[in-house]
Amino acid sequence: MGIAAPVVKSNAQNSWARIPSRHIYYYRSSQHNDRWILSFAFIFESSDPVQFAYCIPYTYGQLQSWLSELDARKYPFFHRDLLAHTVQKRRVDLITIDGSPDTFQGSKKMVFLTARVHPGETPSSHVMHGIIEFLVSKDDRAQKLRKVYCFKIIPMLNPDGVYLGNYRFLSQTVSFLFLIFRCSLMGYDLNRMWRSPSDWAHPSIFAVKNLLTQYDNNPQAQTVIYVDLHAHSQKPNCFLYGNVSMTATTSRQLWLPHLLAELSEDYSLEFTQFNTDVEKAGTGRRTMGDLLSCLCYTLEVSFFSYRHVDSSGNGIQHCTPYLQYKYEALGEAFSRALLNFYEADCGLRDVSLERPFKTFLPARAQKSLKKQARKVIQTVMMK
Ligand SMILES: [Zn+2]
Repeated sequence: MGIAAPVVKSNAQNSWARIPSRHIYYYRSSQHNDRWILSFAFIFESSDPVQFAYCIPYTYGQLQSWLSELDARKYPFFHRDLLAHTVQKRRVDLITIDGSPDTFQGSKKMVFLTARVHPGETPSSHVMHGIIEFLVSKDDRAQKLRKVYCFKIIPMLNPDGVYLGNYRFLSQTVSFLFLIFRCSLMGYDLNRMWRSPSDWAHPSIFAVKNLLTQYDNNPQAQTVIYVDLHAHSQKPNCFLYGNVSMTATTSRQLWLPHLLAELSEDYSLEFTQFNTDVEKAGTGRRTMGDLLSCLCYTLEVSFFSYRHVDSSGNGIQHCTPYLQYKYEALGEAFSRALLNFYEADCGLRDVSLERPFKTFLPARAQKSLKKQARKVIQTVMMK
């Protein structure tokens, strides 16, 4: 899959760079209970400070100053609201991008996007940055997107966790668990709290769930898609996870993955999956998929690299490390895929599907789908 390479930045550099894979070594250490150890070689060329990170950082402060900068540009189609405060009183921002805000006549389609529920997954913020920058741009396709969709975006679902440098869990250390497990950090995984979020312990999830259900129940709005952005530490490339539902039109569920694969060399149809995994119950995608009438996905992007076949036509596969610009480019490609999705929805574009829906299901999901189908048939026969 390509080696998991940390990133480095010195004062002399403007951007983060990956440490070359030839300078990285992974080995199991018997002195550390046979755990994997990462070591790497780096030459310090001056006494200037140098920063190293697991992946390219994206902080709460960075988001706040960028949103203020966007606000200062005074776009008529851009609005920044305070959706909620976190437990530690940080802002949970709600961004609305809508080129014609007065046209709530039932014709406006809504797209909901969220990111960074897992605070360590910084690539999701870079992709979201690329999405928002494209949506507010002068590009013809961005202007069309603003006309046909109303975007509701929550760029950071877990500001406390991001600020405190947590990886997956909420900032609030639960002291008794801390003592029991002697763990330095133990809190909530906010992406398992969607089924019954508490307004005091999980205020961002509580507020976003309410917002989504309110719009879904509004007859003047038509929610089309909800996507929650994440980062993956084990698989390369980017890919979507979707839900398995007997009621959804399955081929329509495949449009977005295929449209994104057409536009982005790093998108992987191979890793795209529709599942019903028990361990994913309580996530935004699964919970909102059960509650909303729209398509719900998780977009995953690798922390490290993507595999792709080069354009020479001889089938040679390359493994390219992800850099910031590539995450942002994925954000642009994702936005353009949404426009193509709109055109497909209106019958203006055909989507060529590479494989049938069932090939995107893991074996256990295929079984569960068969079970559901049997139940439906039995119910119909009993009537
Ligand atoms: Zn995640």
